[in-house]
Amino acid sequence: MTSEPLFGRVALIGIGLIGSSLARAIAQHGLAGDIVIFDASVEARAAAAELKLGQVSETLAGAVTNADLVIIATPIGAYADLGPALAPHLKKGAILTDVGSVKQAVIRDLGPHVPEGVHFVPGHPLAGTEHSGPRAGFAELFKGRWAIVTPVPGTDPAATERLKALWSAVGSMVEVMEPSHHDQVLAITSHLPHLIAYTIVDTATQLETSTQSEVIKFSATGFRDFTRIAASDPTMWRDIFLNNREAVLEILGRFTEDLTAMQRAIRWGEGDKLFETFSRTRAVRRAIIDAKQA
Ligand code: NAP
Repeated sequence: MTSEPLFGRVALIGIGLIGSSLARAIAQHGLAGDIVIFDASVEARAAAAELKLGQVSETLAGAVTNADLVIIATPIGAYADLGPALAPHLKKGAILTDVGSVKQAVIRDLGPHVPEGVHFVPGHPLAGTEHSGPRAGFAELFKGRWAIVTPVPGTDPAATERLKALWSAVGSMVEVMEPSHHDQVLAITSHLPHLIAYTIVDTATQLETSTQSEVIKFSATGFRDFTRIAASDPTMWRDIFLNNREAVLEILGRFTEDLTAMQRAIRWGEGDKLFETFSRTRAVRRAIIDAKQA
């Protein structure tokens, strides 16, 4: 079957795990006439060329010029500089999107730079691994996962529909959400779990050497699952916490209260309370398996 690709030229800015997975998926499904790539890292650009992920540009302007769709897939901390740097090169009618894990801060940093006539439709695929870089990506990463699209007020609905079509075509289920709601939902489903994992693993590593070796040796008892999450990219996660501060602090307050309640239940031997809580959480796991998100 030969049909027109969804987009003419797609520019990918940042060719790490998410950018390179998108490049592979877009190519596999024939969604772009051509793919142009820019990454600040010389190594990443060389890897992208070697892996034939698209045409590699040595400059940001070279990648963005004439692109019908520009996808930013760098850590969020880079956005404040990227906005003014890429804005003058955006083509009228182009769609500018991103894959960043926080949405209000992205709109704050990029929004003011988006020129008249360019459609700004931020997005976030709820898909990833603890690995980074262009070699870690794979075309199936987004299959069966949610992609959230957070258009700003006044966005042309046709641009939102085209972006939704891209995510559907790479296998995702798509949901449109308010940016602030996105940030609250992700604070509890993703950001807090990562913070807990980072903290548990760090607490363990601060114990004396003899205990540390036993932490590794007996890690299968639960600790191991936290170490996978705590191996996630430090730059990316630093930027997430700095840019979703309000929502994370809010949910962290709630969590700290609940943790204190558990501490109290253990201290006072309230077995029923512990059992009830653990039974409720077990049902959540079953619901996730039923929703095929396990
Ligand atoms: P990654 O594998 O670390 O790749 C990011 C790439 O962007 C790196 O090659 C980096 O180069 C490059 N870069 C940094 N600043 C740049 C700039 N100013 N211009 C061009 N390239 C630049 O990261 P990732 O995991 O793909 O994450 C990318 C984005 O996706 C993040 O915003 C993250 O929030 C979001 N996201 C990630 C996941 C996940 O699980 N990983 C899931 C959903 C969404 P250097 O290495 O030299 O800095």
